[in-house]
Amino acid sequence: MTQPYEMDAAAWQSFAGELGEPAYRGDQVFRWLNRDLAASWDEMTNVPRPMRELLAERFPDAFATPAIVQTGDGGTTRKALFRLNGEALAETVLMAYPDRVTACISSQAGCGMGCPFCATGQMGLLRNLTAGEIVAQVIWAARELQTMTLPGDWPRRLSNIVFMGMGEPLANYDRVWSAVQRMHDPAGIGLSARSITISTIGVIPGIERLARESLPVTLALSLHAPADEVRDTLVPLNHRYPIADVLAAARRFRAAHGRRVSIEYAMIGGVNDSLDQANQLAVLLKGNDFHVNLIPLNPTPGFGAPATGGRGIEAFRDVLLRHGVNATIRRNRGTDIDAACGQLGARAAVAG
Ligand code: SF4
Repeated sequence: MTQPYEMDAAAWQSFAGELGEPAYRGDQVFRWLNRDLAASWDEMTNVPRPMRELLAERFPDAFATPAIVQTGDGGTTRKALFRLNGEALAETVLMAYPDRVTACISSQAGCGMGCPFCATGQMGLLRNLTAGEIVAQVIWAARELQTMTLPGDWPRRLSNIVFMGMGEPLANYDRVWSAVQRMHDPAGIGLSARSITISTIGVIPGIERLARESLPVTLALSLHAPADEVRDTLVPLNHRYPIADVLAAARRFRAAHGRRVSIEYAMIGGVNDSLDQANQLAVLLKGNDFHVNLIPLNPTPGFGAPATGGRGIEAFRDVLLRHGVNATIRRNRGTDIDAACGQLGARAAVAG
């Protein structure tokens, strides 16, 4: 579905040359695709018709069109399911808020990390997405936003990207980073680096690479437990990269970019939500390096434990706040269309 989005501006310039056109024609096509969100070759009115016809022949299925789009949360959330090469699946969720618009995108079809509470993990890894397939999800989201009916004072521009859809982004580093650079390119969508969040369960070599990159993206770490014996049961990668090492890497990222790291913590009844565990977490995270997001666990077909109730989450948060650790409770979006955290892939897994 995405070959045209695989190419950056330089690749489009040389491709224009292959077609016997000057390089600036390549720039024009790149901007139509990545900045002006064109949904057809015909829209590219400053590109000569013979070149548009050639492109249409070359890329018959070019414009990031999902197989299915669902709407939830009273019209403020949309979820798209993309079929890649007719087989692998990727999902994207677009969420509008009064102060921002966020696209939650996938970096892999399925995921090989095997976190048992996560619907994507229950699918296993189908394959890595290409950079173009990742960028195409952002283009779809920006375009889809134009079709949403929202309150008049809500923003109409895509402002945030979170790699919290299907997959572990740092297990597909090179393609993810190439997509990040394209999202940041001012000739394309032009998002600021800090509005792009890469979420990981703690792939330390990937965190170290992010710390060395020149673009200061935001890092989110899915911690989910304050002690290795519990985290081992929720995040199998913890056997390889235990909590102390992962937090040390996150602190090095913080030192390199000056960006506070988000800690994602899915609240699971009777597993990781006691006040003792809140105290342990507060000790681990003391200082000003982190901000904790507490998220009630979302139900998935393959995991039986319940979500912590509202009062329990508030009490847990209050312990963190009393210790001076920044913490907020995150409202779930998209649960009615299986688009909330940890739910992507639920239907696909059941169907497939
Ligand atoms: S929580 Fe993230 S890393 Fe774990 S299985 Fe799900 S998608 Fe993969």
